[in-house]
Formats: sequence, structure tokens, C-alpha cells
Amino acid sequence: LTTLINDERAVVWVACNITRRHLLEAKLQYLSETDELTGAYNRRKLLDTLTQSFRLFKVREAPCAVLLMDIDHFKSINDRFGHLAGDEVLRGIARHAMAHIREGDIFARFGGEEFALLLPNTSLHAAENIAERLRVSIAGSQFLLDQDLTVTVSMGLSLIHAQDQTIEGVLHRADDALYTAKHQGRNSFISV
Ligand code: GH3
Ligand code: MG
Ligand code: MG
Repeated sequence: LTTLINDERAVVWVACNITRRHLLEAKLQYLSETDELTGAYNRRKLLDTLTQSFRLFKVREAPCAVLLMDIDHFKSINDRFGHLAGDEVLRGIARHAMAHIREGDIFARFGGEEFALLLPNTSLHAAENIAERLRVSIAGSQFLLDQDLTVTVSMGLSLIHAQDQTIEGVLHRADDALYTAKHQGRNSFISV
């Protein structure tokens, strides 16, 4: 083998190695920020992004909305159709929501049957419209093939406020609003 060929092989080998490392890094990043069941972002990614948005808000008052969403009577869906069907509903809701949001919005599975949507650079009015549209379209969708099942969600919405010291403030308000929406009879949306 001539030096020239050796040089070429060396170049090829390095290029391959970098590509493989990049692929591995991309895969690790995907796994660390994705919910396994639904393919939505996970809780950690949502909280990390909310923390970044919180800093941006403090620096240049970029408005940022947080929407919490909990499936209504999900336990009875599991009871009626089985746990696997329940999983299918979770995947369906996530797919539906992800298809209806803008680039830059972060939709995450926040816990069992609870989801969160982070809307950076979004005013209260715009966020309210997005939430209401999502609530109505979920209630009008079919998530289990060949089953007559209506799935509804309750939602609580809040913006980051100037008085908030940490992200806990906005999460707390959104959660309180969600709680109120549940008590108002579900399939509803409260903004505070
Ligand atoms: P509410 O309208 O008050 O929210 O009632 P709910 O039945 O949705 O609320 P509850 O908290 O009583 O029940 C949540 C259920 O979600 C219980 C749990 O078994 C189910 N669940 C949580 N994670 C999963 C999951 O990954 N897959 C399935 N199939 N069920 C899940
Ligand atoms: Mg719940
Ligand atoms: Mg629920």
C-alpha cells in the first residue's frame, strides 16, 4: 500500500468515526429528553426548557405560557378497555397534540396521564386560543379504533409573572387552574 492510499484510508476512517459519534450523541440526547411510551418530550426536558424560558423572561420579558392538561376519568378508560388500550389513548393524545402545535412549542408527558405544553413567546390571549382549540379537537377525536369512546381533557393555563421567583410559581398556578377545571365538571379549561 502506498502512502497516498494510506492517507485516504485514514481520512475515511476519521470521517466514519465522527459520524458514528454524532449519531450516538444524537441518540443519547433523544433518549434523555423523550417519553418512551408516547414519543413526546419528557418531564425533564419540559422543566429544563421552562427554566431557560424563565431566564429569558427575566432578561427581556419574553412572555411564556404553561398549559397543564390531565385526561378526564382516565382510570375508567383503563377499566373499560384495558391498560393497553389506555396506552393507545395516551399515544393518540400525544400524536394529536404534537400535530397541532407550532415549532418551538414543547409538548411533554408530565406524569402518568398528565401532559404539559410550554408556549414560549406567547401572549395570554394566543395561549388561550391554542388551549381551547386543543380541548375541543381532542373531544372530537377518535383515539381507539372501532370503539365509541370520547376522550376529554381538563386544562389549566398560566403565564410566567414578574413576581415569580422560580418556575414553581407558574407551575403551581397552572396546576391550581387545572384543579378548578376538574371541579367545574371537566372537559374545560381555566386560565389564571
Ligand atoms: P380525573 O378526571 O379526576 O383526572 O380522573 P382519572 O381517572 O383520570 O384520575 P386518576 O388519577 O384517578 O387516575 C389516573 C389513572 O391513570 C390511574 C393510572 O392507572 C392511570 N395511568 C397512569 N399512567 C398510565 C399509563 O402509562 N398507562 C395506562 N394505561 N394508564 C396509566
Ligand atoms: Mg392525573
Ligand atoms: Mg385524569
